[in-house]
Amino acid sequence: MADKAGAATLECPLCDCEVPINGDEKPGEQVFCPYCEAPLKIKKDKADKFYLQEDF
Ligand SMILES: [Zn+2]
Repeated sequence: MADKAGAATLECPLCDCEVPINGDEKPGEQVFCPYCEAPLKIKKDKADKFYLQEDF
């Protein structure tokens, strides 16, 4: 049942914690790490996988 594309969490590039996401975010959207409170931008890599990049 847990075979859906798109993770429910992404890794914060600054503190390596798991940042929860809704799963329907789009590239370019901004989220905040709940731990280090850094602004993070949602990006997509060439393999169509989401990742987070610091967005200061
Ligand atoms: Zn963080």
